Amino acid sequence: SYSRSMLSTMMDIPLSLTRILEYGASVHGSTTVTTWHGEGTGSEFDPAEEVTFRDIAARAAAFAHAIHDDLGITGDERVGSFMWNCAEHLEVMFGTACKGAIFAPLNKQLMNDQIRHIINHAEISAIVCDPRLAQQLGKVLVGTDSVKSVIITGAQPAQQFAHLFPRGIEVYSYEALIDGRSTVYDWPELDERTAAALCYSTGTTGAPKGVLYSHRSNVLHALMANSKDALGTSASDTMLPVVPLFHANSWGIAFSAPSMGTKLVMPGPKLDGASVYELLSTEKVTHTAGVPTVWLMLLQYMAANNVKLPDLQMVVCGGSAMPRSMIKAFLDMGTQVRHAWGMTEMSPLGTLATLKPPFSERTGEERLDILQTQGYPPFGVEMKITDDAGKELPWDGKTFGRLKVSGPAIAKAYFRVDANILDDAGFFDTGDVSTMDEHGYMRITDRSKDVIKSGGEWISSIDLENLAVGHPAVAEAAVIGVHHPKWDERPLLIVQLKQGESATREDILKYMDGKIAKWWMPDDVAFVDGIPHTATGKILKTALRDQFKDYTFPTAAA
Ligand code: ADP
Repeated sequence: SYSRSMLSTMMDIPLSLTRILEYGASVHGSTTVTTWHGEGTGSEFDPAEEVTFRDIAARAAAFAHAIHDDLGITGDERVGSFMWNCAEHLEVMFGTACKGAIFAPLNKQLMNDQIRHIINHAEISAIVCDPRLAQQLGKVLVGTDSVKSVIITGAQPAQQFAHLFPRGIEVYSYEALIDGRSTVYDWPELDERTAAALCYSTGTTGAPKGVLYSHRSNVLHALMANSKDALGTSASDTMLPVVPLFHANSWGIAFSAPSMGTKLVMPGPKLDGASVYELLSTEKVTHTAGVPTVWLMLLQYMAANNVKLPDLQMVVCGGSAMPRSMIKAFLDMGTQVRHAWGMTEMSPLGTLATLKPPFSERTGEERLDILQTQGYPPFGVEMKITDDAGKELPWDGKTFGRLKVSGPAIAKAYFRVDANILDDAGFFDTGDVSTMDEHGYMRITDRSKDVIKSGGEWISSIDLENLAVGHPAVAEAAVIGVHHPKWDERPLLIVQLKQGESATREDILKYMDGKIAKWWMPDDVAFVDGIPHTATGKILKTALRDQFKDYTFPTAAA
């Protein structure tokens, strides 16, 4: 038993974000973080502003003093943020978490009601806000009562914004607030299990749920992400996290970069194809991370303008399945891709598709086959697939099952939700359906709610979508199960064509024919002007199901 085992003679140093902050500020003190503020109203910022990890640590300390002394944040209060990816966002994150309070980045793409719900649920005390988002935040805060202070980034006088917020909320200017404070803070020695950050999942399926990360889980996740086979970056690289901080701390990059000395480029508000191209190109970015919709816009822009990105070595892509055609487009331009799967609940990395033996030497289509899987888990993530009764299924690359995970950076409960989310063995059910192969490579077949049940068998909507977007005229594709009198459900393919392109139902079905099992072929194709997305760029299937609720298949006619 544990009690009889001998304890080691090693140091008991708690894993804490303070250590990451201090390591980044000393060993990599001159490494830079460059923010592109974009334009827009209220921008008194320089277009591109460069600071160092040393500056960020100093300003994080000043921020911690300011919220302690002036805002009375002395315990585990939640400090929210309502801003794009920028250097100040990191200052707020570290300043808050290292002093023992909890950083709660808010997703401004959610609906105001959802944001308000999160603020109330988390009982956020203070919010740091970009001036360009002040008006939206003012509306959100009507009907909340925990927020006592709003801090507007930049140096504009606070009075300019005060009228936007409900009475009783004190408005501060960020620069005025931290100006003149000590840039050294005597950070407390925290228990490593102390909460550090609170991120809400978007609620693709249901209300947003809070995941309360600890210092320990964030440090372990950073170490896990810092491998050549994970994010693939080093101290010689430049990383552009397109993925926002509110999305699981920019997929953990907010902690990874300073713990590895990776230079950061922060994109600010402009995330369209042309802007992301300009950023990647001007800043000579080597590694970048974001969801497929961002890369779709980038690739379209690059193709239309016939431009290249010679410095870009790797695109990390996750949040939704990365289509094969996209993988190929990046490989053709000499950029590696790393398809990743994860969840807010997992901090978020779960698997990454790196080529390892026996697949390393594969070429052509066979190489794409592996790169298109969601990949295998890094050390620190354990996985299993089970049937509905919880029985483990084989790792044969064919059998689908419910994907369950465990690890030290995975949630065991949701914040302030009194429900058990683990199975008897302590595994969390991801809500995804997948296969596993003997080498640990995982393939997502579907979200358990989206899988199409046809005649008692399962059809993967994701496989059909990935195939359909390979058609040259298709910009984006979504597949939903629609009721069928004989088969229970059959797949309906919903297509948005590329601008200026045309294709008929028959063209698209002919393109798919022979590439999948006959019985997987969609029963019909519907063309739409736009496919709805969630706030994190996933196809919003609930909205599509709603839109097509009265639809009946031509094949359903008696
Ligand atoms: P949300 O976007 O709902 O806030 P998450 O980012 O936590 O939350 O979403 C996690 C889910 O996204 C996963 O359970 C899975 O269904 C989907 N997902 C993430 N990455 C991939 C991927 N590479 N391929 C397919 N699905 C993915």
